Amino acid sequence: MIIFDEKKYAETMIKKGFQTKNKIVYELNILAKYYFYKDLNDDEVKSKIIKFCEKYIEHFNLDEWFQIINRTVFAAKRGKFITGKVVNITQKELDVIDTLEDIREKKVVFVLLVLYKFYDYKKFEVVIEDLYRLSKLNINSKTKLKILQSLTSKELIDITMGGKRWVKYSDKKGKPVITIKDFDDFVYEYELYVGTENFKKCEVCEKAIKGNSKSSTNAKKYCRKCAEENTKKNKRMWKNRSRKS
Ligand SMILES: [Zn+2]
Repeated sequence: MIIFDEKKYAETMIKKGFQTKNKIVYELNILAKYYFYKDLNDDEVKSKIIKFCEKYIEHFNLDEWFQIINRTVFAAKRGKFITGKVVNITQKELDVIDTLEDIREKKVVFVLLVLYKFYDYKKFEVVIEDLYRLSKLNINSKTKLKILQSLTSKELIDITMGGKRWVKYSDKKGKPVITIKDFDDFVYEYELYVGTENFKKCEVCEKAIKGNSKSSTNAKKYCRKCAEENTKKNKRMWKNRSRKS
């Protein structure tokens, strides 16, 4: 599981509860870090976490959970809270990707590059399923491995004995051509860059989006977030108007 923005993640948890079934202690750690980030003190964070557990864990028993919560809050206080990260991709890097012919290889090596930069140029672990989910490629496991092997043999990527990956063509200094601030569907930024049909920029925030099918009369203009904001704004406007009339 890769969480690109823990603030966003914690805010979703507060609205909707746990986002996984089997990683809830990990999730509680993120939530606790969020409350420290919001300047709550140890006791306040602890009580927030307990309230959250009472609400979302079935048959929650504080005696059972007391140790876990204490440890989680203790670790969260010292942990790094990841939010607002930005990844820049340079022309030099895009030129290297351009030398590849297979669009699937291009997308995978782009995603690996973004991850490597997201992790501050440190070798990182990524589950193959996550990698292909982020690349938005639905292919069989044999092909998945073949693509990675091909990229390795071209000396664009590599993997350590312990299974950590990195890319060999990153460029730290070049001027950014693609800037990624929102990591939802970030591979679309690459599709937009290469000019894949039907990809465009959100008219508000310029994030890359996938348009509707050609037959649809209702052209998509905004990313999901801006579309939601827009709906909210319109609703408020209608409310105000109906109040005045
Ligand atoms: Zn937008």
